[in-house]
Amino acid sequence: MTSFSIRAPLAWLGTGGFTPDVQIDLDGGVIASVGRVHPVADDVQVVAAAGIVMPAAADRHVHLELSDPADVLAGGVTAVRDLGWPADRIFPLADLSELPTFEGPLVRAVGPMLTVRDGYPTRAWWAPPGTGRELADVDDAVAAVRELSRAGATAIKVSLNVEAGPVVSDAELAAICDTAHEVELPVSAHAQGPGQVERALGAGVDELAHTPWTQRLSDGVVERCAAQLRIVSTLDILSFGRDTPELRTAVDNLRRFHDAGGAVIYGTDLGNGPVPPGIDLRELRLLLDAGLTHDEILRALTRAPIEPGAPADLIVVDGDPLTDLGALARVTTVIRGGRLAPAAEDARAEPETMSRPRG
Ligand SMILES: [Zn+2]
Repeated sequence: MTSFSIRAPLAWLGTGGFTPDVQIDLDGGVIASVGRVHPVADDVQVVAAAGIVMPAAADRHVHLELSDPADVLAGGVTAVRDLGWPADRIFPLADLSELPTFEGPLVRAVGPMLTVRDGYPTRAWWAPPGTGRELADVDDAVAAVRELSRAGATAIKVSLNVEAGPVVSDAELAAICDTAHEVELPVSAHAQGPGQVERALGAGVDELAHTPWTQRLSDGVVERCAAQLRIVSTLDILSFGRDTPELRTAVDNLRRFHDAGGAVIYGTDLGNGPVPPGIDLRELRLLLDAGLTHDEILRALTRAPIEPGAPADLIVVDGDPLTDLGALARVTTVIRGGRLAPAAEDARAEPETMSRPRG
């Protein structure tokens, strides 16, 4: 049963080009149908989109408590994955985020990063106690993965940061990956410093939580990465709009990874420095520098195509995102779980605020 419909002169449904004169009917939190404009029952709320409708954005690398969930949502990001936070804080927040009353994106979480005593991020300035789970040995690694799986983790994050302290052993890393795969969870690694991407590959890691920036990867390693894992971009945190050696190394690694057929997904590491809440235009422009096409960038950014059964998470942007990434910084309406997000409703009531400045 349709609860809410959105009509748009033009929509990008998540793949290919634009579709004209679209009506998207929503049934609670899911998309019921996508088709041409047609009449609806009197009790169905209809929103006429003043712009291009497209799937909402997902940020696959955040630390949400270091930002404002309402601002994240208002900026067009309706789903986030928190990649490192104390279990007793982030899993309750993830549960809360499923309620329609939650003013923020849907939150998926990994809980704490798996590390060793005094390893990253246990001494990181930004990390509250419990952001790292210090493993004692292989048995403890197995137990930690099982605990996190029971607590609701949607992936397992392991710290391989040799620049900030000791890291898990090869045996512990293998146990983490094997146990995670037994319980059908992917493993995401923070690889930083010589040899750590190679270690991640050898153990069967499924994802790098950052584009590697500390070393230029050999072409052979890039090809193995492209065949085995995906990379969460997080390029903007290496420069925040400036040009840095770290950024150049990362863009070079990501360009070759993408050329080799590797899967790139959008993630910002929100909470780490001045990353704006919502869609980060600088991150998107850096993906363009790394060789992704506009269409590939939009697919890396969005959660799911607009089709029946998909989450009813949509945004309206002012401009053509297939030729102008800047349109993605002009989000005029946000629908999450079949409901208009509060800030978007305010913007509709006061059109002069629709292009409010972004923080
Ligand atoms: Zn992070």
